[in-house]
Amino acid sequence: MVDTHCHLNFNVFKNDYREVVSRSFENGIKFLIIASSNYKTSLKAIEIAKEFPNCYASLGLHPIHVTDEKFEIEKYYSLILENTKIIKAVGETGFDYFHQPVDKEKQKEVFLKHLQLAEKFNLPVIFHCRGTQEKPFEAYKDLLSVITSLSSFPAGVIHCFSGNWKIAQEFLKIGFYIGFTGIITFNNCNNYLLEVVKKTPLNKILIETDAPYLAPEPYRGQRCEPHYVRFTAEKIAQIKKINLDEVISQTTKNAEVLFKI
Ligand SMILES: [Zn+2]
Repeated sequence: MVDTHCHLNFNVFKNDYREVVSRSFENGIKFLIIASSNYKTSLKAIEIAKEFPNCYASLGLHPIHVTDEKFEIEKYYSLILENTKIIKAVGETGFDYFHQPVDKEKQKEVFLKHLQLAEKFNLPVIFHCRGTQEKPFEAYKDLLSVITSLSSFPAGVIHCFSGNWKIAQEFLKIGFYIGFTGIITFNNCNNYLLEVVKKTPLNKILIETDAPYLAPEPYRGQRCEPHYVRFTAEKIAQIKKINLDEVISQTTKNAEVLFKI
């Protein structure tokens, strides 16, 4: 079982990330990917990944931070070069129209730089998309139109997918994986998202927590930990009417393929 997206590099884990990592491995996590939101958390992700086997890092500047921090590609370039064994992805990067202020042009510019970095090191990308209440799918559509206008683009995962089946199909068509979080376990989860879980082939699904956020039921509202990803796997098994073991083993394989682990 793999948590393909957690933030053990965030302050909320500052005092006990070692215990959290131990609990993860004691509770069936094979490996985990620590996703970054800016330069500082990228450094922290590397620090944790260096400390523990089976912890890997993804580096990047989250779209909500492009207005308060410059994306200095050379700095990330050096970090990857110095830590090739533990850095397995670039991101999270993409489009976020939910958090204000929104600078769409800046987000696009920074996003394209992330793609450059990924192509340079042949790394997959962790994509983040979040729309507004009124236009929930706009960020997905913009990302798709940018990506498909390029002559080549890296492999990747749409993390914390919360779109509908029409959007999901567009991403599947270009070979991306779909990442599901604890959201799919929530009582008020949108039916269209559950339909995506049902219809997405198991060999294109990744499971993730986005810890400390989005703790699945029965831990909803609490600080999330990587091993809670099991509840997301259980929900997928239930929706697809297949064995939990099958979900765990196939999503583990998928993560190994995408992140080359
Ligand atoms: Zn995240």
